[in-house]
Amino acid sequence: MQFENTLDFARNQDQTDPLAPFRDEFIIPKNEKGEPWTYLCGNSLGLQPVAAAEFLQTELNDWAALGVEGHFHGKNPWFHYHKFLTDHSAELVGGLPHEVVVMNQLTVNLHLLFASFYRPSSSRYKIIMEAGAFPSDMYAVQSQVEWHGFNYDNAVIEMQPRAGEHTLRTADILDTIHQNRDSVALVFFSGVQYYTGQYFDIRAITEAAHEAQAFAGFDLAHAAGNVALKLHEWNVDFASWCSYKYLNSGPGNVSGVFVHEKHGLNAQTPRLAGWWGHKEDVRFQMKRGYIPEPGAAGWQLSNAPVFGMAVHRASLDIFHRAGIDRLTAKSALLTAYLRFVLSQAKISNPHLLFEIITPENQEGCQLSLLAGNNGKALFDHLTACNVIADWREPNVIRMAPVPLYNSFTDAWKTGEAFASFNPS
Ligand SMILES: *Cc1c(COP(=O)(O)O)cnc(C)c1O
Repeated sequence: MQFENTLDFARNQDQTDPLAPFRDEFIIPKNEKGEPWTYLCGNSLGLQPVAAAEFLQTELNDWAALGVEGHFHGKNPWFHYHKFLTDHSAELVGGLPHEVVVMNQLTVNLHLLFASFYRPSSSRYKIIMEAGAFPSDMYAVQSQVEWHGFNYDNAVIEMQPRAGEHTLRTADILDTIHQNRDSVALVFFSGVQYYTGQYFDIRAITEAAHEAQAFAGFDLAHAAGNVALKLHEWNVDFASWCSYKYLNSGPGNVSGVFVHEKHGLNAQTPRLAGWWGHKEDVRFQMKRGYIPEPGAAGWQLSNAPVFGMAVHRASLDIFHRAGIDRLTAKSALLTAYLRFVLSQAKISNPHLLFEIITPENQEGCQLSLLAGNNGKALFDHLTACNVIADWREPNVIRMAPVPLYNSFTDAWKTGEAFASFNPS
């Protein structure tokens, strides 16, 4: 498509966009003049679905009216509540329904999954991951290797981009896995890298890990709801994601887990257990002897936090109606348009020193701009122009035009804000 850097062009795109009506299903925050923010932070905290309040109110009402009876006699019985999220979550990540469960929060789930899939021996104990992973993942991995009596520098291989490059080459990742085939126990990457926006080749990484006799696990915090995943088909061993970034389910809300059926249907797969993962039809017999529910549900510990899940359900319902394939098709176009208006701004404005480091052929909707030495001033200027992006130390501005509620007009306005930057 031939893009044009004009408001008319952007508005035209919005008018013909079949997903444009979904914007009205979200509450867009406004500035003091009552104008909606140009909100490009859906990668950090997604916006509130209008329906969230109603979904939550339904459960509050049942609690008020029924007390403990709500577990079995509510409109959506709480005993089963996690199951109401399963099908749409599985659809989003390309898992079979019994490979997916919603529970806990992301870092907690990573530890539970490491308990199952990082069981090092004296010869096979290494973890390969990207350098500069999200801090929680770094701390989780460090504590895991130390928990098992290993030393971080010896046990963890952090992959750095080549000198002068900002992102990892897939071939280099595959090589590193192959070179460590005698000692690697786990290959653990993010799906979409939070800092650079690089969308890793999950299928290729998984295949290489399996050739090296290692498990492959992924943190999909920035991938779920952003890119079209096929976890079952790609043979991924395990994955987890949060619900509050692209999945718009509110701060700190519940997390999703994928465990491939080859592990999940095997009751012998080691795990840390709690009563909610115990076989459902005998759960309330309160007897000793843990029998796991088949599938990812057998990793649950605690009974489901219904209020958070109610909000998550409102959001998953929107994704189901929009469809991840339609969303990613719009995302590709909208992100390309943002790239285009930014490149136009850079041509017209000599104060703009940024470089986009997100690889064009490996991206979701997030663009990461490595800013020049006036980066913080640029970021403050964007904020003053009503463009809400985010700043990551030391020098990156992240912007995510999300296809559910961002418009081509949003992208055009962002380009205008860049074009008007004048730090002096
Ligand atoms: C956002 C994010 C987290 C956050 O973890 P919580 O346990 O939800 O606080 C962890 N890892 C990655 C890669 C993230 O992007």
